[in-house]
Amino acid sequence: MRDLLLATTNKGKLVEFASLLPGHLVRVRSASEVLSPMRVVVEDGVTFAENAQKKAIAIARESMCLTLADDSGLEVDALDGKPGVYSARFSGDKATDESNRAELLKRLRRLPSPAAPFSARFRCALCLVDPFAAEGHQVTETAGVCEGSIVLVERGTGGFGYDAVFVPVGYSQTFGELSAEAKHALSHRGKATEALLPLLVSLLGAT
Ligand code: IMP
Repeated sequence: MRDLLLATTNKGKLVEFASLLPGHLVRVRSASEVLSPMRVVVEDGVTFAENAQKKAIAIARESMCLTLADDSGLEVDALDGKPGVYSARFSGDKATDESNRAELLKRLRRLPSPAAPFSARFRCALCLVDPFAAEGHQVTETAGVCEGSIVLVERGTGGFGYDAVFVPVGYSQTFGELSAEAKHALSHRGKATEALLPLLVSLLGAT
């Protein structure tokens, strides 16, 4: 069975991929277990896809392992799509999930006439790089989107990041209140992973 390195140090993402990726297919490992210290990849792309590709290619080159990178974030319409690719560092260089949620809610409360519910979406871009695949077949990309809205008071302790303030369309609970299984069935990361799995299976069969 091949190792699949996750090019992330984000604990929330690592936990989610451990249950999204089937253990009978690949041995899921964090890149930081294999590369220590793990190389810091500057995420200066203007799209999630660009950043995911940058991370996956850099870590795959260095580790020579099958590598998966996720770049994801939240877009809020009332903030012209912010925080977008800056979701992880919305409140500055020392940002935490808590400070990022506080920054988001502060900006939304400041809007002239709070037009809640604030429509928003999570986006996830996945990039899988196989350094041993044939030239032209090394990079596989998928994406997923989850539409919803932002609530101004945090609810729930599950998940990570902006989960406590995001309510997916068709639900009244936030991602922080829903079970991990319910979130996976709806989420941007769940959808991008679902699209990736058949491609991963055929890649594994072909190498
Ligand atoms: P990245 O590591 O640059 O892709 O940053 C992703 C950031 O987007 C995270 O740090 C979270 O703030 C946010 N984010 C991405 N996916 C989720 C999710 O599933 N729930 C909550 N926040 C998320």
